[in-house]
Amino acid sequence: MSHRRSSAASTLSDGRFASKERSEGKLDVRPLCFCGISARARFSKTSLNPGRRFWSCSQYSAATRDKACSFFEWIDPPSQQQEDDETNSVLCQLKTMKKKLRIMEERQNKTDELFLKQSYMEEKLKLYEEKLKSTEKMLKAMDEKLKRLKLVMLGSWVLFCSCIYLCLSGVERESM
Ligand SMILES: [Zn+2]
Repeated sequence: MSHRRSSAASTLSDGRFASKERSEGKLDVRPLCFCGISARARFSKTSLNPGRRFWSCSQYSAATRDKACSFFEWIDPPSQQQEDDETNSVLCQLKTMKKKLRIMEERQNKTDELFLKQSYMEEKLKLYEEKLKSTEKMLKAMDEKLKRLKLVMLGSWVLFCSCIYLCLSGVERESM
């Protein structure tokens, strides 16, 4: 186990050395930054790419930050660890995106459900409104009938009263 580890470490350092040797040639051919000046090689100090070299604007420094352009280009290829880290971070991002997608799909489903419920309720409401309208019509018709009935009753009551009056006045005339 320890033997394997040491051999892996030596290959890694050999690989690094080889890549440095290879890119050492690259250092002679400096690319031009966006300002049109030869770029300057720097070492990355980030935890993701420690010691990895990159080209950047030669005008870049804490004092002249405003003058520098945003030119950036890696000199060293990523190490196996860096590649693994990158793959892992991409996988992690993919997982997060899948989770977000699932949540969004669930939300969409809920929205669909709500929409269906709402349109069902709207249909029901329409039916109730129609029923209400027909009930109102029926009530109106009954009201009319009731009015007519009252008139008929009033008429018959007047007729009845005048009949009684006529009868009584007839009886009075006979008795005189
Ligand atoms: Zn520049």
